Amino acid sequence: MSEIIINESNKLIIDKHFSHLICDEYTESIFKGGQSQADEKLRNINIKGYSKKRNNVYPETKRGSSYLSPYIRHGLLGLNEVWDAVVDFPHEDRTKFRDELLWQEFSRHMYAIMGKKMKKMLNYSMKNNNKEIDTTEMNCIQTIQKELTDTGYMVNQTRMWYSSHHSFRAGENWTDYEDYMFKHLVDGSRFANRLGWQWVMGGQTGKLYGFAQSQVKNRAPNLCRDCKLQYTCPIQTWPNESKFEPVNQLMNFDIIEKFGPTKIIDSGTKPEIVWLTGESLGDDDAAMKANPNLPVIFIFDEILLKKIKLSSKRIIFLLDTLRELSAKKELSIFVDDPKIILKNYKYSVTHACVPKYQNITKSNHPEVEFPTSRLAEPIDFYPKSYTSWKKKISLTV
Ligand SMILES: Cc1cc2nc3c(=O)[nH]c(=O)nc-3n(C[C@H](O)[C@H](O)[C@H](O)COP(=O)(O)OP(=O)(O)OC[C@H]3O[C@@H](n4cnc5c(N)ncnc54)[C@H](O)[C@@H]3O)c2cc1C
Repeated sequence: MSEIIINESNKLIIDKHFSHLICDEYTESIFKGGQSQADEKLRNINIKGYSKKRNNVYPETKRGSSYLSPYIRHGLLGLNEVWDAVVDFPHEDRTKFRDELLWQEFSRHMYAIMGKKMKKMLNYSMKNNNKEIDTTEMNCIQTIQKELTDTGYMVNQTRMWYSSHHSFRAGENWTDYEDYMFKHLVDGSRFANRLGWQWVMGGQTGKLYGFAQSQVKNRAPNLCRDCKLQYTCPIQTWPNESKFEPVNQLMNFDIIEKFGPTKIIDSGTKPEIVWLTGESLGDDDAAMKANPNLPVIFIFDEILLKKIKLSSKRIIFLLDTLRELSAKKELSIFVDDPKIILKNYKYSVTHACVPKYQNITKSNHPEVEFPTSRLAEPIDFYPKSYTSWKKKISLTV
């Protein structure tokens, strides 16, 4: 069993425990983990002009993005509280921003329903009709990829460019690039990342999102101006239309099996610890709030990390978050197999709608399980698109 001493430096912890589990050299992202950091970001949120500026790329000073995503992804900020925090902003900006929060919730619903099947095209299969283009001298692709690996962040627009290019004009191995993006994003999640790639490839709608020079000229003109290929750009035209064939998703499911409990499930036995997961690391975690005096544990899943090899940027974000929590709680942190560690405890937990959680809790039942916090109630239908989902949901705010 490998236990982390959280008061050691991040560098020492990474060297001691994570050198075989990460994909890069020690790199700090632009995000500092911790509840206080998340709270401060939310207190100072300013989405004035968001609707017009959201798609700006470079210069960075012209961007409208909130940079809240790592805190939302790890449950340091709930979608509901972010929703409430923008109540006083102009209608146009508030509506656009809240629509994006709903996209985040939609991705969680889709992942709850589809799980690992999100890796396959959802409603349309696609046959790519484009030739591979070398990106070595393309300033746009090289710059956005560098921003990803240096900072752990990309704005939505460059995520679309990157995924479009690597879905249609980089051969047939788009999942390698999806993995690459997922590993380096501090907000990387299988739900939002997979849905983003599906959206770009037309997996839901049968319509692809193309990437061409005109978008770069429009949203980040300096990238073209400084590019060797400015006048011989290999993406002057849109990618060729791909061939889409409908896929039938037959879906008949049990809400609880997919979305977890809708109310607290209590076995009657008192828990002795709270298990925190990477989806719910905030002070508002329901299991931790209900058991303020219980010790808390967090387990870096060694088997999973060995397989996916995240960037050190994400691990450092998590370590900073846990270090802050350790000042408030009796906290133990392990790098191990959660199934083995949890066997030793009677625990309470907040449900996480990810396949790994289901796998771990199948053999190690929690004594008390709290429902996941949500922006929209669980659904009992397969949504073919964001629009059809949005029409039918009931919000919790
Ligand atoms: C190919 C691709 C991959 C993506 N991968 C991820 C990912 O791994 N993790 C992730 O959280 N988001 C992902 N997104 C969605 C979106 O790009 C990011 O959430 C957003 O850029 C994060 O930056 P922000 O907080 O500054 O966003 P803002 O524009 O300020 O948005 C505020 C919040 O709304 C949510 N949001 C915004 N846009 C989207 C969207 N299109 N889909 C889902 N939620 C959204 C996020 O929670 C975000 O923090 C991806 C999008 C694409 C196209």
